[in-house]
Amino acid sequence: MESNNKMENGKSYKGSCFCGTVQFTVSGDPAGMGYCHCESCRRWSAGPVNAFTLWKPDALKVTKGADKIGTFNKTPNSYRKWCTNCGGHVFTDHPGMGLVDVYAAVIDDFPFSPGIHVNYQEKKLRMKDGLPKMKDMPKEMGGSGVALVD
Ligand SMILES: [Zn+2]
Ligand SMILES: [Zn+2]
Repeated sequence: MESNNKMENGKSYKGSCFCGTVQFTVSGDPAGMGYCHCESCRRWSAGPVNAFTLWKPDALKVTKGADKIGTFNKTPNSYRKWCTNCGGHVFTDHPGMGLVDVYAAVIDDFPFSPGIHVNYQEKKLRMKDGLPKMKDMPKEMGGSGVALVD
């Protein structure tokens, strides 16, 4: 064993909801990491910004409490998941992108390394961190690809 996070098939991180009923692991490397400023993420999270980590669906394994996961989809793009015991949010399926957003805040000891801000035109919280600020989404994810100067 090289470290606690190393398994024979690569890195693995544990995560859980607020109460611990829902537990999961994510394995390998995320497809992307950053911050989303969109109105949906802000309202769903009740926070000013959502720190996301995007994974291929098979990188996520629910290890406990799968039957306690609630789902709500306001649009076909995002199936938002939470623990029906505590209400804590855990992840969002994006079927169109073929990715799942596991909220950085609910993964233990994860080396969150954001690379981008998306939907920055909707921002409520200005973040001067030198990272690229996309007006909406990158071109390869169906957006305009326009970057804003902050
Ligand atoms: Zn819970
Ligand atoms: Zn968003």
